[in-house]
Amino acid sequence: ATQPTAHIGVTGLAVMGSNLARNFARHGHTVAVHNRTTARTKALVDEHGHEGAFVPAETAEEFVAALQKPRRIIVMVKAGEATDAVIDEFAPLLDEGDMIVDGGNAHFLDTRRREKALREKGIHFVGTGISGGEEGALNGPAIMPGGSVESYKALGPLLESIAAKAPDGSPCCTHIGPDAAGHFVKMVHNGIEYADMQLIAEAYDLLRRVAGHSPARIAEIFRSWNTGRLDSYLIEITAEVLAHTDAATGAPFVDIVADEAEQKGTGRWTVQSALDLGVPVSGIAEAVFARSVSGHRDLRRAASALPGPRREALSPAEAEEFAARVEAALYASKVVSYAQGWNMIGAASAEYGWDIDLGAVSAIWRGGCIIRAAFLDRIRAAFAADPQLPTLLADEDFADEVGTAQDAWRSVVSTAVAHGVPTPGFSAALAYYDALRADRLPAALTQGQRDFFGAHTYRRTDRAGSFHTLWSGDR
Ligand code: NAP
Repeated sequence: ATQPTAHIGVTGLAVMGSNLARNFARHGHTVAVHNRTTARTKALVDEHGHEGAFVPAETAEEFVAALQKPRRIIVMVKAGEATDAVIDEFAPLLDEGDMIVDGGNAHFLDTRRREKALREKGIHFVGTGISGGEEGALNGPAIMPGGSVESYKALGPLLESIAAKAPDGSPCCTHIGPDAAGHFVKMVHNGIEYADMQLIAEAYDLLRRVAGHSPARIAEIFRSWNTGRLDSYLIEITAEVLAHTDAATGAPFVDIVADEAEQKGTGRWTVQSALDLGVPVSGIAEAVFARSVSGHRDLRRAASALPGPRREALSPAEAEEFAARVEAALYASKVVSYAQGWNMIGAASAEYGWDIDLGAVSAIWRGGCIIRAAFLDRIRAAFAADPQLPTLLADEDFADEVGTAQDAWRSVVSTAVAHGVPTPGFSAALAYYDALRADRLPAALTQGQRDFFGAHTYRRTDRAGSFHTLWSGDR
């Protein structure tokens, strides 16, 4: 038999898998490639074989035989049942110490289940978040591997070689933590992405409907924001989308797109998991709900005649000044949604014993992924200064900035309410900020009610212990 030559294998050669395989090959690794339907394998090698060393395999047996030990197999198939089918097909062909890397968008609880089952067979299962879409897979994604420390020793250098590089040159890939830590963190990344997109959409809506700016003018405003503290991939592409004109009609592109946002589910998973963990992620939740409201055509039609406030658009001078306030509101709301996202990662890390380095997560999101931004380096610095930081809002620099922004933030939310423009992201973020900083919350009253109707008891501010009041009528 011929000696195996491949350093790594990729099975599942749709767009993500093909691009990852090419990325490995371009970095000098010999890549075994396999797909259920062999035509895809052949197409990849025919079209891109010249980019590096590929070993095409028609069957699972050929694929496994082509891999050097310990075998490293990246699975890039449709998340869900396909992943289980592929694991069932490959696991019997593998030896102890081999690695199955799931690069799909798996739910972290599926990853925990798969990791446990394969660990019992001596196989490392490495649930790995990969962000950056097709373009990132080819030219450098952010990579979030979970799984064992031992697996990272064998995989880390390969993954780091194809990962995006942060502005300081370091690879956007690190061992996140055991079992499903990588997929969990990728899920929260996507949730934060939803929140960022919603906040940007609200800023656009206000600049359009309250300030009366054209999409082209708003594109310019976003471009100018992109040179400041909001500098990020999402702000950059927002300007591009807003500046785009529809070729067929000559209308602003944004005006010819149906206003019903779709979703694939990672935002929803984030909110569902946050509810289970008991972590408030209102920024992400409002973003998921806003997409869902947009999609309820029937509800929107039924409510379309409800009255709103009568308001004039702002004067040109007011509009200019308003844009600066919207920038402050967007920034402060963004800080809040990131603070919530990091709290969620921290809570899961404690719950599952993952020991995630919160600063390292921000460091690897500085490049490659959809939420990449200069801002992530600030979060890295905040955790470097205090690894136990309870919330980003307690970091001195963020606290200063948000504190300075709060007047503008409040006035933007009031203006939005007065004009009848929905800003669930800005408003929820501000409510969270005010809740955290409040001396007393009306939760005391909630506790009183609970004790009244259900004898649920309450704790007192002045004495230890748990108390129940005999309410009048002694229910
Ligand atoms: P996809 O459309 O999600 O999946 C297609 C691939 O899955 C094909 O190779 C297909 O093989 C294979 N497949 C489906 N069912 C299978 C089964 N039962 N057994 C074996 N193989 C099966 O592909 P994708 O868009 O490249 O995404 C791959 C993974 O990456 C997904 O988990 C996705 O969520 C994740 N992801 C995607 C993006 C993105 O931007 N697209 C970004 C990050 C992560 P055949 O050719 O034989 O049908």
